[in-house]
Amino acid sequence: MAETKQFKAESKRLLDMMINSIYTHKEIFLREIISNASDAIDKLYFKSLTDTSVGLNKDDFAINIIVDKDARTLTVSDNGIGMTAEELENNLGTIASSGSLAFKTDNELGEDVDIIGQFGVGFYSTFMVAKEVTVLTRAYGSDKAYKWVSDGVEGYTIEECDKETVGTDVILSLKDDTDDEKYGKYLEQYQIQSLVKKYSDYIRFPIKMDVEHTNYSEDSDEPEKTVTNDILNSMTPIWKKNKAELTDEDYNNFYTEKFMDYTPPLTHIHSKTEGTATYDALLYIPSRAPFDYYSKDYEKGLQLYSSGVMIMEKCADLLPDHFSFVKGLVDSEDLSLNISREMLQHDRQLKIIAKNIEKSIKNELTKMLKNDREKYEKFFDVFGLQFKFGIYQSYGTAADSVKDLLMFASSFKPETKEGEEAKPAGKVTLAEYVDRMKEDQKYIYYACGESAAKIELLPAFEKVRDKGYEVLYFTQDVDEFAIKAMMTYKEKQFKSITDSDLDIESEEEKEETKKTAEESKDMLTFMKDALDGKVKEVRLSTRLKSHPVCLSSEGQVSIEMEKVLNSMPQNEKNRVTAQKSLELNASHPVFAKLRELYDTDKDKLAEYAKLLYSQALLIEGLSVENPVEFADLICKLMV
Ligand code: ADP
Repeated sequence: MAETKQFKAESKRLLDMMINSIYTHKEIFLREIISNASDAIDKLYFKSLTDTSVGLNKDDFAINIIVDKDARTLTVSDNGIGMTAEELENNLGTIASSGSLAFKTDNELGEDVDIIGQFGVGFYSTFMVAKEVTVLTRAYGSDKAYKWVSDGVEGYTIEECDKETVGTDVILSLKDDTDDEKYGKYLEQYQIQSLVKKYSDYIRFPIKMDVEHTNYSEDSDEPEKTVTNDILNSMTPIWKKNKAELTDEDYNNFYTEKFMDYTPPLTHIHSKTEGTATYDALLYIPSRAPFDYYSKDYEKGLQLYSSGVMIMEKCADLLPDHFSFVKGLVDSEDLSLNISREMLQHDRQLKIIAKNIEKSIKNELTKMLKNDREKYEKFFDVFGLQFKFGIYQSYGTAADSVKDLLMFASSFKPETKEGEEAKPAGKVTLAEYVDRMKEDQKYIYYACGESAAKIELLPAFEKVRDKGYEVLYFTQDVDEFAIKAMMTYKEKQFKSITDSDLDIESEEEKEETKKTAEESKDMLTFMKDALDGKVKEVRLSTRLKSHPVCLSSEGQVSIEMEKVLNSMPQNEKNRVTAQKSLELNASHPVFAKLRELYDTDKDKLAEYAKLLYSQALLIEGLSVENPVEFADLICKLMV
């Protein structure tokens, strides 16, 4: 008697969740096992192309579906690569990506969360319909065969068995029918035929089943029944078909089946290209990000086929980082079957294909932005961040592809007519920003902050807005890094509203400030000295309207970048600081007070300098360097 082994803990939890029908489309189990069978055949077929000892031709490979109504079993049998005892244990006893399960806890799993889609646990879906699953398998190159049996709850057993041929049989003993669910329907010929058509039509190997036909002839009253072994699928891969023959549903079904994402994609791109490179491509833009998308674990890439045979599961070289969210495949006759990963990297053909693909993704997104703004904004909310990472990480070279696709929130308020409801502000593209720039406006202004509300509170914001200049809101850490890498857009430079040379005042204002600065020169120097090297300069501001102070920065590192860089653990020992200046608003009553103190009480002026500096830090969202001193100074003011 074979020993019963337990499923690994995570697998068990997952099984429970799945069997208890978190996923409602039970019928997908068939697609999952057919797809596994097809992958297994793919592997052996691929071997057979270079290794004659396999002894099988393309036409010999097939997937057979066998129904036994009396025994209530459904068998899917393949003559693919099979599994060794060890593989059987590893592949079916654990879930490959079980570690990722830790991402979601039980309570986070809502009603319709699709576990299968997220974790690729295809085989386990059989337990949604079967009370027991038996797997008989013999690996290519092995003379031993094994039997794996499990009820999906208690664990599984593995023992040696007899099997004449290489390959795998998956035998499902269907659950008993209940009032809610008639599992017996999966033994019905019509049901199986339509499921194969729906989900597995493109599978490149024949899926065969004994099909009963009813023939009515004129000679007899009784219809005649014949049984033939039919091929249920059309076997033409979807990407080889004509666009005109295909519906959105076909494309979406294929996507779900192939890429394990149960949310329909936002859009697809199906192209046939001939010329310097000949290939078919079918690309999808998902509508949501995989759970690990913004982590290091995420692997980008497209499936790569050579004349219909898959040669690589994830070819990273086909996708630039800024489009790493795209899923899909490329099938080209120009690539050799035996090409190695290393050679592929240098393959000229592949480089051309990659360039074309980048272009077509860009075009598709540009089209979406133009024709379906709402859909595009939805897309951008999910994947827009990646564009910015792409620009930053490529030192700006990715900007060519994505600069026109970027979007930011901004201070722009769409005009509303009398009696109309205020329109939501929405996001703006850089092109839109530049189009409506004021005539005298030199720069693209932006401000960094946690949220729009916080940005609008920044001291310098008022003045820029009053000038009628639009301000882009950079609320994501990477925003400023990305535009610094990009440098300009349509030859316009970017400028943070906290930059020291904001350049928005009029000539008269400049004169006025210069005069006051001249008069207050000694006082400003005194204050700078009182701040003991914390600021490069204390000067008069031209950008403040109602606030008394603000900080400005010069040079490569902005105040916002200081915040972001210092929040990264790897920079803990190497603090980065922006070169800051303290700016004073000469028309604020506080300024008159400072002037007075300079003549009457310099000690107090030194304290006020510290207070104002701390206030400016707080306004910027930086922390006060010495909170105790700050609190003491305020108390001193109070009593
Ligand atoms: P996935 O197919 O997403 O990897 P599954 O749970 O469906 O996950 O299958 C786990 C693994 O078991 C497969 O990756 C494959 O290695 C192996 N396997 C499943 N079915 C077969 C089969 N019919 N022939 C050979 N190997 C199989």
